[in-house]
Amino acid sequence: MSGTLAFEHYPTDALMRVTHRPEAVFVRGQGSWLWDSTGRRYLDLVQGWAVNTLGHAPAPVAQALARQAGQLLHAGPGLYNDQAVALAHQLKQLSGLARVFFTNSGAEANEGAIKLARKFGALHRGGASSIITFGDSFHGRTLATMAASGKPGFDSIFQPAVPGFVKVPYNDLAAVQAAIGRDTVAVMLELVQGEAGVIEADPGFLQGLRLLCDRHGLLLIVDEVQTGIARCGSLFAHTQFGLKPDIMTLGKGLGGGVPIGALLATEAASCFEPGDQGGTYNGNALVCAAALAVLQAVLAPGFIENVAARGRQLRAGLVEASRRHGQGAVGGRGLLLSLALDRPMAQALVDALRERASGDAPGLLVNPVRPQRLRWMPALNISEAEVELALALLDAGLRGATHSPR
Ligand SMILES: *Cc1c(COP(=O)(O)O)cnc(C)c1O
Repeated sequence: MSGTLAFEHYPTDALMRVTHRPEAVFVRGQGSWLWDSTGRRYLDLVQGWAVNTLGHAPAPVAQALARQAGQLLHAGPGLYNDQAVALAHQLKQLSGLARVFFTNSGAEANEGAIKLARKFGALHRGGASSIITFGDSFHGRTLATMAASGKPGFDSIFQPAVPGFVKVPYNDLAAVQAAIGRDTVAVMLELVQGEAGVIEADPGFLQGLRLLCDRHGLLLIVDEVQTGIARCGSLFAHTQFGLKPDIMTLGKGLGGGVPIGALLATEAASCFEPGDQGGTYNGNALVCAAALAVLQAVLAPGFIENVAARGRQLRAGLVEASRRHGQGAVGGRGLLLSLALDRPMAQALVDALRERASGDAPGLLVNPVRPQRLRWMPALNISEAEVELALALLDAGLRGATHSPR
């Protein structure tokens, strides 16, 4: 292991300041654990923002990357490569969606979904181009996906906004119905709104939405960038709701830490023609090899059962911690969970949990998704003992927080 280097020795101000980051530089990870440059260790239940399906530095992904790096990195967007063909075929088999386009991020997958819907409208719906999206939704940080998002504040920065999105309240079927007009071509949503604070769709709302889309000839676009690849306890979250999307987007967990996203669509919705869509790095062999390794691990016997079991364990522990310390409700599915707090102390609590790291004592990394809410998104192969430890660290943190004056 390398020697220790204090935070002050890193020229971190060479990076643009786009977010608040703690004063630590991370140098190594293994499974559910991260180490900073001074040797402090952290039990990580953020995992690259719900990205590291198999935890940090997983052997299957490391091996696939090493093997593929020596074989073929990138043949180019104008040529087929064996890894992309194999990954597309496997995603087709798993999802029942006929066609796949690979991207470098979740936002780019959603951007592709928006383009596909607009093309579908131009071809089949008399030029209809408007997409209904939802309050508090999050679809990415490109200009179009920011416009599609309902995240507060996104509508006022980087003006002028991309037009063509109509926003309605989440889980409000009557509002969707009222918003449908001659120019509407699609409805786009998350099944669990992750960035909003882990807010779940009502099953009845989704069933009604599917019927509405069928009745009006609209495409139903499901953004599974965060919920997909077993995060919610099934390979795709939409199967838990019995929902059949026309278009689905993936990202985050698909590459297990390697940047890859995917746009999937039914045969009927797959209306791109040569020249409509592309990208220099899209579907390169290296990232596709990593995603194939992630899928192989996720589909191995017992893996998804562990997600469900650890999800039940973490949920039960959070409910118990909430009861013991007078906190709020626990929400979410599988290993995408939230804990509501009794006051807006999420940032302070998260800082305190992290800063307990010293010597051999571990810190805990968890996401303050809202001022009054924590989000939990551990590695999907987290162990029973690691969940137990995370809950013990939370308990100690809450004891400190709830004993300090309000
Ligand atoms: C993270 C996320 C995105 C954006 O993905 P990036 O890879 O950051 O571009 C889009 N949709 C949802 C639901 C997300 O959680």
